[in-house]
Amino acid sequence: MRMLLLIAAIVGVFLIVRTLLRSSGRKRPEKPERLKQQGAVVRCAHCGIHVPQFEAYRSGNRMYCSRDHALADKRDQNEG
Ligand SMILES: [Zn+2]
Repeated sequence: MRMLLLIAAIVGVFLIVRTLLRSSGRKRPEKPERLKQQGAVVRCAHCGIHVPQFEAYRSGNRMYCSRDHALADKRDQNEG
């Protein structure tokens, strides 16, 4: 019976110490989100790949990952 009391005491101390450590470690600065730093991402209207807006090609009100896809999509629209 003495052994049980000792184990209970150890567990109790462990839980108290853990709670204290957690509450003191709360003041971490939050990291900024990475996606926001990279700027806007647009979707290619031809193949659907996502590219940064500054790398995208614009044709009318559509955005493309490359000049080839802008031309290819225009060709498809004309043929369609
Ligand atoms: Zn594309």
